[in-house]
Amino acid sequence: KKRVVSGVQPTGSVHLGNYLGAIKNWVLLQVIALPLVVDTYDTFFFIVDLHAITLPYDASELSKATRSTAALYLACGIDPSKASVFLQSHVRAHVELMWLLSSVTPLGWLNRMIQFKEKSRMAGDENVGVALLTYPVLMASDILLYQTDLVPVGEDQKQHLELTRELAERVNYLYGGRKWKKLGGRGGMLFKVPEAFIPPTGARVMSLTDGLSKMSKSSPSDQSRINLLDTKDVIANKIKRCKTDSFTGMEFDNPERPECNNLLSIYQLVTGKTKEEVENECQNMNWGTFKAILTDAVVDHLHPIQVRYSEITTDPTYLDHILSEGAKKAADIAEITLSNVYQAMGFLKR
Ligand code: ATP
Ligand code: MG
Repeated sequence: KKRVVSGVQPTGSVHLGNYLGAIKNWVLLQVIALPLVVDTYDTFFFIVDLHAITLPYDASELSKATRSTAALYLACGIDPSKASVFLQSHVRAHVELMWLLSSVTPLGWLNRMIQFKEKSRMAGDENVGVALLTYPVLMASDILLYQTDLVPVGEDQKQHLELTRELAERVNYLYGGRKWKKLGGRGGMLFKVPEAFIPPTGARVMSLTDGLSKMSKSSPSDQSRINLLDTKDVIANKIKRCKTDSFTGMEFDNPERPECNNLLSIYQLVTGKTKEEVENECQNMNWGTFKAILTDAVVDHLHPIQVRYSEITTDPTYLDHILSEGAKKAADIAEITLSNVYQAMGFLKR
């Protein structure tokens, strides 16, 4: 069976961008409902808590955000009887492999990462730990440990995934194949080289307050995003106050109207309509009319998720159980990769 791996950082509230760009596709991949995808997948969805400490954060909030993110995975439709759901920090192999990978990661590759440049600029040099720079190496470890075929992520992760692929090839070249066999290993490739799955629509949901920057958990303004757990009133208020323009009618793909394109795309995704249907329905609407139907559509789409979320969180032992089972299953697989890499790199067996 092919393997699918992905995660969200517990750095704040999960928002519509995380959902439409990533989590929604995880749910579809569990049941092979994506067009052209004919394989069935073994899926691993974790909460990347170790990534959440790469910028200054509040330690007293981390466990709460971690639980809430895990509960949201389930509420969005991740089925723990099909997928392994666990915390990154519960499978020690992630950090161990990261160290091994760091030894073959050129500093220049990390310096080129756009996310590092953007987030370090935002935080200021004195607030940036080296973990923000080495973050993509941990991400590569997250993926390569599971011999992953497919990584469903938003467009912002494309560059990190490319780095993961290059690292996999580098390790395979430096330590894999016959060299590894000579050391008593099985030979062959140490890592599978994974592919990104980036959806055609929803891969880059933009901020409500600026159509040119992506919706983000780490943005200081809560007005810029719709969180999956926002109430009806909060959603209505955010959409009411979001950035618009002074053009008439609604249209996709006008470079002068990034906000309009973004909101139409959100409407398309939460209603499940086609682009043409949305175009026909909305082209003659004014902003006021469109905002009203968008609000209703978003609220209706999130309602069942919120209901399931409150059911799941009434019994904390349920979630604990799922996370501990998920970590056991994941650790078994991760250990195999890790011990092969240790062996291929010349370490003595434990
Ligand atoms: P942070 O600001 O802390 O980095 P984030 O909103 O970028 O938070 P992540 O946890 O980094 O969220 O990303 C989780 C997943 O959501 C990734 O697959 C990422 O590509 C996807 N994602 C994040 N933001 C968006 C967005 N605006 N549109 C579509 N996908 C997104
Ligand atoms: Mg991010």
